[in-house]
Amino acid sequence: MMLPTHVLVGLALALPVAVAVPEHADIALTAGLLGGLIPDLDMYIGHRKTLHYPVYYSALAAVAAPVAALVPTTATIAAAMGLLGAAAHSVMDVFGGGLELRPWEATSSRAVYNHYHDRWLAPRRWIRYDGAPEDLVLSVVVAVPLLVALDGTLRVIVGTAVLIGIVYTAVRRLLPAIAEVLIAGYLLQAIPDHMLARLPTRYVPDYVE
Ligand SMILES: [Zn+2]
Repeated sequence: MMLPTHVLVGLALALPVAVAVPEHADIALTAGLLGGLIPDLDMYIGHRKTLHYPVYYSALAAVAAPVAALVPTTATIAAAMGLLGAAAHSVMDVFGGGLELRPWEATSSRAVYNHYHDRWLAPRRWIRYDGAPEDLVLSVVVAVPLLVALDGTLRVIVGTAVLIGIVYTAVRRLLPAIAEVLIAGYLLQAIPDHMLARLPTRYVPDYVE
């Protein structure tokens, strides 16, 4: 799923905690947001493997959540919400598309790496690809209660995430062609071979291999 969806889901998971324990609302929501966001920082360094841990984040969240419920402090709530957001992100990506350049073609058998079993999990494609119309629908549905409940900076962040999601969904199918033109037309001539080898393979046109 696209990044705005993950960020909104991370926030939504923290929303009940923010309502139940208002004195820790800010830390819960911030940690949920960051937990939803951080796994995708591996976008160009082993995407959906380096920072995606569907099993380990979930196991740690299962420990951290009851600890935070029993001893609600800034640290325990931050840990629980951060891990919950990251776990939800990593598991949700399994239900999206694969890692290919054009995930709507559904040719890749890789969705998220399962470090625990040392293998790739196959994409379920309930949401066919990141930036699919149904991905945007999910974002909007999750955003509604957040827009109602939150105010100030967090409401602006939710609104911005939805706007980014709309634009991303609108241009998603154009992005591979743009990436190929940029890479084939410029980067392949401009960057040395050893650097080229480090480009994610989904960006390298077939004729280069
Ligand atoms: Zn992801």
